[in-house]
Amino acid sequence: MKIWLDGGLQDIESARVSVFDHGLTVGDGIFETVKAVDGRPFALTRHLDRLTRSARGLGLPDPDHDEVRRACAAVLEANPMPLGRLRVTYTGGHGPLGSDRGEHGPTLVVALGETTRRPDSTAVITVPWTRNERGALTGLKTTSYAENVVALARARERGASEALFGNTVGQLCEGTGSNVFVVLDGEIHTPPLASGCLAGITRALAIEWTGAEETDLPLDVLERADEVFLTSTLRDVQAVHRVDDRELPGAPGPVTAKAMRIFEERSGDDLDP
Ligand code: PLP
Repeated sequence: MKIWLDGGLQDIESARVSVFDHGLTVGDGIFETVKAVDGRPFALTRHLDRLTRSARGLGLPDPDHDEVRRACAAVLEANPMPLGRLRVTYTGGHGPLGSDRGEHGPTLVVALGETTRRPDSTAVITVPWTRNERGALTGLKTTSYAENVVALARARERGASEALFGNTVGQLCEGTGSNVFVVLDGEIHTPPLASGCLAGITRALAIEWTGAEETDLPLDVLERADEVFLTSTLRDVQAVHRVDDRELPGAPGPVTAKAMRIFEERSGDDLDP
């Protein structure tokens, strides 16, 4: 397996970053997960734009889009696979043992893992911990993901594949690695960005392609929604058949099934050549 580090391809066994890299010591970094179908990245321009937004939010230098594109292409060419997940990581770089950044420039790593298509439906849980809709990192895709790791582990213990968070004012927000949509009386709704959720790229496409509304939703909407679905780079549109103890028989329901079909038909549109 070859990855991209320090401006070129390296063997994963011998590639090294500093043990004082701020991505490791203080979680000072950002990332993108990009789907690659037959070696072609999906929605790469949108991912690069979000990477830049996250970098600016953290005060990191703007990532060089040309380099990230070259890195993705090189890693994909070196590791052919039918369905891959590119992981672009960009950190504050080597620094002192504290929160101040060092003089070194940032670290860019691009790696690739093989992945498989997700099942059409899944179970989710809700967790009692809240997303902060007004934090310094809200809406940024940072490597500070430990809260998501804890919540996802809780979901796995309960036979679910995702954990959903509310925010500090009791509204539905998002999952550990996905955005959430609900169907009420035939209309699709998803929490607005002001809820504190990440501006998911799949979320944006789903809103564009299905006409879903951005709506403030109380967390207990999950107890009465006719249908629930998740969106993410690796799930695309995935129906939910259980929320905590509530079964949603027949998932994907008709509205979700239509969204899945639209996504399937259109998601070839934004593959890099
Ligand atoms: N929310 C969080 C916290 C995420 O980490 C992700 C993706 O990893 C998403 C939402 C979905 O975003 P996207 O559709 O861009 O993958």
